[in-house]
Amino acid sequence: MSLNKARDVLKTYFGYEDFRKGQATVIEQTMEEINSLAIMPTGGGKSICYQVPGLISQGITLVISPLISLMKDQVDALTSLGITATFINSSLSNEEQRERLNALRQGRYKFIYVAPERFDSDGFLRTLDSIPLSIIAFDEAHCISQWGHDFRPSYRTVVNRVKQLSNIPTLMGLTATATDEVIRDLQQLLNVRNEHIVKTGFARDNLTFKIVKGQSRSAYIEEFVRLSKDEPGIIYAITRKQVDQLHFSLKEKGLNVSKYHAGMSEIARKEAQNAFIQDDTTVMVATNAFGMGIDKSNVRYVIHYALPKNLESYYQEAGRAGRDGAPSDCILLFSGQDIQTQKYLIEQSEMVEEKKRQEYGKLQAMINYCHTNQCLQQFVLDYFNDDTDAEDCGKCSNCIDETEKVDQTKEAQMVLSCVKRMGERFGASITAKVLKGSNDKKVKQFGFDRLSTYGLLSHYTEKDLIQFIHFLVAENYLVSEEGRFPVLRLGKRAVDVLKGTAQVMVQVAKVEKRETTDYDGTLFEKLRALRKELADSQGVPPYVVFTDKSLTEMAR
Ligand code: ADP
Ligand code: MG
Ligand code: ZN
Repeated sequence: MSLNKARDVLKTYFGYEDFRKGQATVIEQTMEEINSLAIMPTGGGKSICYQVPGLISQGITLVISPLISLMKDQVDALTSLGITATFINSSLSNEEQRERLNALRQGRYKFIYVAPERFDSDGFLRTLDSIPLSIIAFDEAHCISQWGHDFRPSYRTVVNRVKQLSNIPTLMGLTATATDEVIRDLQQLLNVRNEHIVKTGFARDNLTFKIVKGQSRSAYIEEFVRLSKDEPGIIYAITRKQVDQLHFSLKEKGLNVSKYHAGMSEIARKEAQNAFIQDDTTVMVATNAFGMGIDKSNVRYVIHYALPKNLESYYQEAGRAGRDGAPSDCILLFSGQDIQTQKYLIEQSEMVEEKKRQEYGKLQAMINYCHTNQCLQQFVLDYFNDDTDAEDCGKCSNCIDETEKVDQTKEAQMVLSCVKRMGERFGASITAKVLKGSNDKKVKQFGFDRLSTYGLLSHYTEKDLIQFIHFLVAENYLVSEEGRFPVLRLGKRAVDVLKGTAQVMVQVAKVEKRETTDYDGTLFEKLRALRKELADSQGVPPYVVFTDKSLTEMAR
């Protein structure tokens, strides 16, 4: 009964035919005044979860969001649908803020968006106490938790302030972060019972995940952007300097690019953002300062120029592609030296030791993602403990190259015995040196040049050996213990390999193969055009997924 009403509202106000996964449950709970935690992927449709019950309920809905830049857009969107809404934040003059608070007291708004900082003001709390509040929604709620990847201390105190209200309304936390610590923390802070946590599957069927190794990154990007023509895309780099350089070189090549990082003035950033959102520029080159909460639905690709610090960030950033449900690409350009950059960033940060250890652990998972044989989508779902039993995606860079497996059991045995002989006390780089048979001082100092495994794999480069070790870690043949200098130990699959009862299969030729398909300009262009055509054509439902293989067939 009440859901019918909700469906009516969804249709009348938002023009949508039906709820997406999880929305109905959250809405139903909220209408029954039950606190909820909604965990849905980026683009999953979290806003609807509070907007629909907000419209049905008698009172006012307060939305707390750490993203000031986004409030105006969200308010404008609601206003254009004929819904009364406003925002109050530090971008307004004191006079304006007072006016909006007055209007709020007079019941002129159904929705009000504020930043966590608003709660520092006693006056604001008194206003909240004087109006009929039905719902408080904590958007981007992972920022409340210190386990979240974007912790904002001021957001955490809001929870206590809310609990000081004389009538506590129904609470709702919304996030795309699904790690157990964050969930437990939020659950406790927002008083949400186990059975009221709504977690939808995290699989993004319309996204194709790819890892590209071993080629010039800027050349790859240039080519990719050129072939994508006027399809919007985002390129993430780690440092401001990388962003500046990449932006400069793409612009020099005549491509239509903007850039965004925290070192730019607020005006310049705003301009760049607007240009991108309004499709005036096609490509945004940015640090991770860009994009949180930005609702641009037609982003066709997200390229990571460098290794992100963890999978939480990666999945959120990559997930900004294809929010409209159309096929889109998420490409990570991997280069081994990025591992050092990320470690350096952790090392010189101000985090306490315990937190640093966690960050190293998360970084390791990110590195594992780049070296696994598994379906990439599946790997991410496992990481987030997503229990939806999805099949392999059939189109990520690991799924499409399955035929290229090569037996590397012997090499693996050599690496594993080397790690064992070195006493399981050293990291990947020195282990690679020993296997290579390097004259390195440290190798000699520890007497490793006298080991029987010294120089056993001298026909490989040290870089290849390190890659191979990362692969063995990713596949649980080795364990890399967290820390500034990770230590290699034998993993749970090592024994069978050493005994010779298990094989180690590796996909070696992945990158080369992609170069001749994807990277071949004409075929690649055909594929993209075809994909777009198929998505556009009415006969094809948007959720139908074409694997690169099937497209390759068709393009021929
Ligand atoms: P999130 O906050 O989870 O990242 P949003 O709330 O911004 O996602 O929604 C992402 C997009 O999905 C928006 O363009 C929104 O209008 C659209 N959307 C949300 N719910 C539905 C629905 N039930 N049917 C169709 N589109 C929807
Ligand atoms: Mg959102
Ligand atoms: Zn896959």
